[in-house]
Amino acid sequence: MTAPIAIVGAMHEEISALLPCLEQAQAVRRGGRDFHVGRLEGHDVILARSGIGKVAAATTCAVLLDAFGAAALLFTGVAGGLGERVRVGDIVVATELLQHDMDASPLFPRWEVPLTGRARFAADAAWTARVAESCRTLATSRARTPRAMVHEGLVLSGDRFVSTHAESDRLRAELPDALAVEMEGAALAQVCHDFGRPFAVVRTISDRADDEAHGDFQRFIDEVAAPYSRDIVRATLADLAAV
Ligand code: SAH
Repeated sequence: MTAPIAIVGAMHEEISALLPCLEQAQAVRRGGRDFHVGRLEGHDVILARSGIGKVAAATTCAVLLDAFGAAALLFTGVAGGLGERVRVGDIVVATELLQHDMDASPLFPRWEVPLTGRARFAADAAWTARVAESCRTLATSRARTPRAMVHEGLVLSGDRFVSTHAESDRLRAELPDALAVEMEGAALAQVCHDFGRPFAVVRTISDRADDEAHGDFQRFIDEVAAPYSRDIVRATLADLAAV
């Protein structure tokens, strides 16, 4: 077996549609989580549900990289749109990620992860380009009006479900280049940097992180999150040369 590619989602809905596609599937339980080892689109993969939030994502990511020796990590899920042009149904591929709730000022600059010297963690350029390309192909092939747009840029993560206009306005004012907000990506980015392994984060926009976020969220999760995540992951893996 070659070093597997890890595919991670925070919630059941984000990975459930992929599970039946897994060949030679075997579940291994570690740290209270099920890790589904198998083959997908000609690749050795591990599929895992991390749970919600930065700690859950970091734990899952560390196990995947260390215990399972994952070669690369692909995180798929949903997020709230922050950028003006980022609408529900669009796709955001992270080029860099930041923990918006990290604040050890005045000891360290706002948002900087103490003792790392950085606030923003870059996603792997090659994986990000590959995922974005697969998303663009998918978005063009879907009969949906208006057509889903694929955005690339800064994604924020924090241990808060952002669901008021006041909070999303504040995030937009403080970090004007942020495209989306979620609860796991930047944690995973930090762990992958520590291990020196490549990763990409792709998010379908489920809500606008405003006062209507909660209502939009559940409907979107039920109707689209699962098939979107499945199609994005499958298309990305299918485009990689089989190993
Ligand atoms: N399942 C619960 C809670 C979901 S928490 C519920 O039914 O309400 C939200 C999840 O979706 C997290 O994994 C996060 O990464 C992502 N997410 C989507 N929209 C978000 C937003 N506006 N703010 C923060 N995280 C968001």
